[in-house]
Amino acid sequence: MAGGGSAIRGSRVGAGPMGEAERGESAPRQTVTYFCSHGHRSVVAFAVEAAIPDEWDCPKCGLPASRDADNPPPAPKIEPYKTHLASVKERRSDAEAKDILDEALVTLRAKRKAGEIIF
Ligand SMILES: [Zn+2]
Repeated sequence: MAGGGSAIRGSRVGAGPMGEAERGESAPRQTVTYFCSHGHRSVVAFAVEAAIPDEWDCPKCGLPASRDADNPPPAPKIEPYKTHLASVKERRSDAEAKDILDEALVTLRAKRKAGEIIF
């Protein structure tokens, strides 16, 4: 009833920018800021001798992020499953065969046009 502390503190953000800066012994680092198309800004620390990648997966949303704040890489398109035709072909029955064949031919033609031949 007396639910005072309702805040859920599941996420503990680790080392901030100052957290591990002055450790002394560790290899010198450089921080690189990446921007994703969701507007997230992610600071990633690299060893100074490391090659800095042009893209980095946004740790917040997983989208690719780039170092150019004005031109974040576009979100990759997620391809829909292409297995519809394949599964239809595997369990065709006599009754459905013709309809499926017609459908398959249409699909096949479309795929042939796209340069993708299945048979
Ligand atoms: Zn993001």
